[in-house]
Amino acid sequence: MPRANRRRRDDVPLERSRALSGAPARQTYAGRDWLVRAVAGTATDRAYRCPGCEQDLPAGIPHVVVWPADGVGGIDDRRHWHTQCWSARDRRRPHGPVR
Ligand SMILES: [Zn+2]
Repeated sequence: MPRANRRRRDDVPLERSRALSGAPARQTYAGRDWLVRAVAGTATDRAYRCPGCEQDLPAGIPHVVVWPADGVGGIDDRRHWHTQCWSARDRRRPHGPVR
């Protein structure tokens, strides 16, 4: 009976697999940590409101999705920002509660 010579599943470097899955970046805003992921645009017709400028964020345009890094509210507490607005977030004051 031949020896098994399979590669172990965990031979794939963790960092590489995380990069491929689009692991979110951790950034700060309003004194909190947030996880941020750039998205290419949603396929749905749903439009969002950007918390930075209070303007509509039409579906289908690239933007960033942001949610609290501490997990409070979970994935349902995501916010959709214009990429420019998130980049300039320190120059903007939230119009309402951050979350
Ligand atoms: Zn905006």
